[in-house]
Amino acid sequence: MKTVVIVGGGSGGMSTANHLAYKLRDNIKNGDVKVVLFDGSGQHYYQPGFLEIPFDMMAPASTYRPMLRLAAEGVTIIQEFVTEVDLKNSVVKSEKQKINYDYIVIATGARYDYDSIPGLREGTDNFYSLENAISLKKKLNSFKGGKIVVGVSSMPYKCTPAPLEAVFMLNDYFTRRGMRDKVEIEYAYPMPMAFPNKEISDISLKMFEEKGIKSSLGFQLKSVDANARELISQNGEKISYDLALIVPPHKGNKLMENSEVVDKMGWINVDGFTLNIKGYENAFAIGDSTNLQVSKAGSVADAEAVVVSERIAQSLRGEEPITTYDGTGGALMLTGIGKASMINSDYTHKPIMQPESYSFYWLKLIYNNLYWNMTARPVLSGVIP
Ligand SMILES: Cc1cc2nc3c(=O)[nH]c(=O)nc-3n(C[C@H](O)[C@H](O)[C@H](O)COP(=O)(O)OP(=O)(O)OC[C@H]3O[C@@H](n4cnc5c(N)ncnc54)[C@H](O)[C@@H]3O)c2cc1C
Repeated sequence: MKTVVIVGGGSGGMSTANHLAYKLRDNIKNGDVKVVLFDGSGQHYYQPGFLEIPFDMMAPASTYRPMLRLAAEGVTIIQEFVTEVDLKNSVVKSEKQKINYDYIVIATGARYDYDSIPGLREGTDNFYSLENAISLKKKLNSFKGGKIVVGVSSMPYKCTPAPLEAVFMLNDYFTRRGMRDKVEIEYAYPMPMAFPNKEISDISLKMFEEKGIKSSLGFQLKSVDANARELISQNGEKISYDLALIVPPHKGNKLMENSEVVDKMGWINVDGFTLNIKGYENAFAIGDSTNLQVSKAGSVADAEAVVVSERIAQSLRGEEPITTYDGTGGALMLTGIGKASMINSDYTHKPIMQPESYSFYWLKLIYNNLYWNMTARPVLSGVIP
């Protein structure tokens, strides 16, 4: 019996487990292969929904489902967090389990490091977790006017377009409430551009101009003065605010923090094509957990999940693993309430932003529902309930 362990049941981990359950269905039934997924949280979150909650586009309860409901037949879910991965001896440990594995896929995502910026936790809001999105919804709902700053603490962070989307959504939200003239919106970004790609930055800055949105580029957040309501940069510049929506700093998950396979931010070093953890042929890392120069996005995690599940299935069949990752990623980007665009890229194609349209907005609304049966539980790719 061969054992495949997946650590993390978020976008990448759940998709990997379900693709494996489909590809290895007969082997699992015959007892030749076991697919085990560890995740102590029990719930699978559709994080793009967190951006929509504050604007009443999605109900909080629509952004999560129990992992047990999403896992395909043949996946064993162990509702515990992994405490140690011994890559050299192929052993994984949780509080109550110790399992020897033949293959492992680490998909533990990113963590938020509030403590590295004094005042950030007390002084700012964000839409990067379910509870923060719900709290922000209440604050926006009762906002009577003033200055709202949308900012990013540091690079990299999940869903690169999300802060731009928030700016455009705020613009439309307050326009619809008939109080746009009472709200000043400012965008504060750590890079000298509004987005890591110049063309998309230029398009966004033009849209800012048309919508009366101010931008402070190259603003590298050092601290927040929660009492004075000021954001303070490394250079001592200050931005005052009434409400600040700040993406917290992101780091790699603590699980692998002390191992030799991570960089200084805790991101796991992987081969960009095979997705193997460097130095380990039977270990993979995917999604937000890696140090690959691709977006930290669900679309990336899912594309990588397909690649690793195929490579593992090929190896288990005694074949040479030939499927490789090409850097595919993309996002449907909200450019307002009722408008969206699409950004796509891969290793050989720079990100391209499609012109905004109502059709992309509808696609986004449809995908919000399709996600559960297309990506997390890929019924449409053949995973039988
Ligand atoms: C506001 C917002 C908007 C977004 N919008 C988009 C979008 O429009 N398009 C897009 O493609 N992406 C979007 N994303 C990004 C996307 O959600 C993430 O990139 C994606 O979820 C990454 O998947 P992952 O599997 O790597 O990590 P996650 O989905 O974060 O899952 C990590 C899992 O690991 C588990 N875990 C952690 N530690 C352990 C441990 N020790 N043992 C076991 N389990 C563990 C956690 O409980 C969690 O379930 C958005 C994100 C946010 C926050």
